[in-house]
Amino acid sequence: MKASAIIVAAGSGRRLGCDLPKAFVPLGGHPMLYYAVRAVGAVKDITEAVITLPAEMLGEGRSVVRGTGVDIPVKLTAGGAERQDSVRIALALVSAESDVVVVHDAARPFASPRLFGESIRAAYLAGGAIAAIPVSDTLKQVDGDAIVATAPRIGLYCAQTPQAFRRELLARAHDEATRDRIAATDDAELVERLGARVAIVEGSSLNFKITTRDDLAIAQAVIAAGLTT
Ligand code: C5P
Repeated sequence: MKASAIIVAAGSGRRLGCDLPKAFVPLGGHPMLYYAVRAVGAVKDITEAVITLPAEMLGEGRSVVRGTGVDIPVKLTAGGAERQDSVRIALALVSAESDVVVVHDAARPFASPRLFGESIRAAYLAGGAIAAIPVSDTLKQVDGDAIVATAPRIGLYCAQTPQAFRRELLARAHDEATRDRIAATDDAELVERLGARVAIVEGSSLNFKITTRDDLAIAQAVIAAGLTT
């Protein structure tokens, strides 16, 4: 079984309030992108990676990849306007020999190689598999500044990445989403609408997405405490 990894890193990171695109913001002495590339490079089943970047950062991206010492082939491409566009662009560059494609956000620097491996193996069996964790907070539906309902959280999960799928299934999901003008914030939703099975693998609260300055401060603390794998 062969897998390709797509690392989406073409976001601007506007909500982080930095001058640099988010994937290049320093974290523990490395640009954020470094961690996802290292993790992917440590997964036995992953034989290549495709990374989407802001067009002006392709050269920088190449240096980050070189700095990781990862020895699988890595293709870099400019991303698209939205995350979904970036995944579609990367998918077109994935080897036709790959059985499974695993998509990961560079903005989640603490996904472990084990989590990638589990997602890939589960996707090979089920069609799709994503990292997710059960919702732990109580969920409120709000209108303006007031609660209108409390949603039962039983059976609700927070989706993370990595998200792995059989390559043909993910390609079909993106083709049909483009045809039907569907926009989604993750790949699983596009595969779900085909009626395909997408399994859950146990993610981690350390696999959080860095969006705000507070997230970045927590990520620095995670590294300082040696909590990464
Ligand atoms: O904006 P957000 O953090 O939710 O984006 C999730 C991931 O998708 C990030 O790693 C970001 O770099 C990537 N992305 C992308 N192309 C875009 C927008 C986001 O590759 N146009």
